[in-house]
Amino acid sequence: MSFRNRQHASRHLALHATEDLLSKRFEDARSTHLGYPYNLKLEHHDDPKFGKFLINNLGDPYSGSHYGIEVCDLERDVIRWFMDLWRCQNHDDYWGAVGASGTEGNLWGAYIGREVLSNATLVHSSAAHYSLPKAARILRLPSISINCDKNDAIDTEDLRRKIIEAQPESIILALTCGTTMAAAHDNIVDCCCALDELGYDATRRYIHVDGALDGMIIPFVPSASPEISPNFKLPIDSISTSGHKMVGVPMPCGVLVVRRCYIDKITSAISYLKSNDTTLMGSRNGHATLAIWRRIQRHGYEGYCSDVEACLLKAAHMEDRLGTARIPVFRNLHAITVVFPEPSVEIVNKYQLACHNGRAHAITMPNVTTELIAKFTADYLKWWQTGSEERSKLMEAMS
Ligand SMILES: *Cc1c(COP(=O)(O)O)cnc(C)c1O
Repeated sequence: MSFRNRQHASRHLALHATEDLLSKRFEDARSTHLGYPYNLKLEHHDDPKFGKFLINNLGDPYSGSHYGIEVCDLERDVIRWFMDLWRCQNHDDYWGAVGASGTEGNLWGAYIGREVLSNATLVHSSAAHYSLPKAARILRLPSISINCDKNDAIDTEDLRRKIIEAQPESIILALTCGTTMAAAHDNIVDCCCALDELGYDATRRYIHVDGALDGMIIPFVPSASPEISPNFKLPIDSISTSGHKMVGVPMPCGVLVVRRCYIDKITSAISYLKSNDTTLMGSRNGHATLAIWRRIQRHGYEGYCSDVEACLLKAAHMEDRLGTARIPVFRNLHAITVVFPEPSVEIVNKYQLACHNGRAHAITMPNVTTELIAKFTADYLKWWQTGSEERSKLMEAMS
């Protein structure tokens, strides 16, 4: 074996060793994961078939591009599925695309709103995802943050008050279906009524619903009120969701659906792509589209119905286990997010919990088993019971 070959072989071995270690690290992290709204119960895909292709859905999903390795046809299928889920009456009246993430969907929604309105102000609640204040900074939009009620949903009285006070010329209202920390659902109908009453009709407003997690949960909850359900029968203009949350694909991505009339206003033709410039990004991940397409084909509407039902039961079970042990636990209606006081840093790290203002949450995604809930509850109660006196003083001071 020549020197060069040997070096090549050893590098190859090292690569294998590295990959094995990585794989072990991922398995370990997944086995105790509770904090992020990620569906880690992934199907085993026949990815090698497409792994050798650079799949790029360049340009507009409806016009495709001159680049041949693309899946814009599958993307349109995916979008039609979401259009049905979010109750678009006529597919032709809507436009949609697969993008990089829920964050991109929010930025995109805010951008479209800014382009179609004059002198818009971005209005969101204090519990809105951080990508919304960031969108305001990127787009140089003035913004207003509205207080939340005790459940973390937007306070419609404060919405009225602050709009009357600021008198913006036009409004981009970003509502949330499932806030990040407590999974609160803003009441879409109440907010639309408030804007109507204050004179912000369709010509002076744009309403985006951030449904990163629960945009893919609430439509599968038969008992959910239509007032919190992201759907285009309501006078809203766009909805976005994340692909790697409830949809369940192995890479970050997202979906945005918008009323087509707005897209027509912002479209410009790019001659060298033989496409239209309607998307925020130029190149877009075709593997993500392919993954979502396969996922919804295989899992189907029924699959998500049973997932959501099971996740809700597991959340209720977890709430019950902690509540029985007299932990001040909180769960919003139709939420798979269970909120409790922030535990020790060891527990936070082990279960990868997201924490904010002394609160932490666990999210009972499809991969979370009752065994994992039992394991977590045991760890949590052990921590809770050590030094419980100081803790109760702390809780009193906080409340
Ligand atoms: C996760 C989340 C986002 C961001 O989505 P990414 O896909 O992670 O960019 C936006 N809004 C809410 C409410 C979220 O929970």
